[in-house]
Amino acid sequence: MPETPKSWAMLHCKCPRCRRGNMFKGGFYSFATNKINDNCAHCGMKFEIEPGYFYAAMYVSYALNVMYGGILWTATYQITHNSDSPWMYIGIILGGCFLMSPITFRYSRVFLLYWLSPKVHYQPHLDTDDKISHN
Ligand SMILES: [Zn+2]
Repeated sequence: MPETPKSWAMLHCKCPRCRRGNMFKGGFYSFATNKINDNCAHCGMKFEIEPGYFYAAMYVSYALNVMYGGILWTATYQITHNSDSPWMYIGIILGGCFLMSPITFRYSRVFLLYWLSPKVHYQPHLDTDDKISHN
């Protein structure tokens, strides 16, 4: 059984332990449902490892927003060469961060669980088509 590639699993917001189950309900820009599942539907991993665990995702989303700000500031300067008014930069950066917020919400949690959680490991024996019984 070939392993599911980590990059594919991260891009598709799959469970970090089995790389099969979805971490989130609903679509990226869905107004109806857009939240993290409590447990992985495939292997049963509890995504919120301990109470308040996802507060740490705020730091990841802060870093992502700083990155967007840098990219948008650079792109705005390259396109307009505006050096008179800060308001255009502020508007574009805030608008860009707002439009990216559903993506930031998901990937801050994906990065937290994949890269910043030493207790969470990929377990290849769970990466199978068989449904694992939840004990
Ligand atoms: Zn899983």
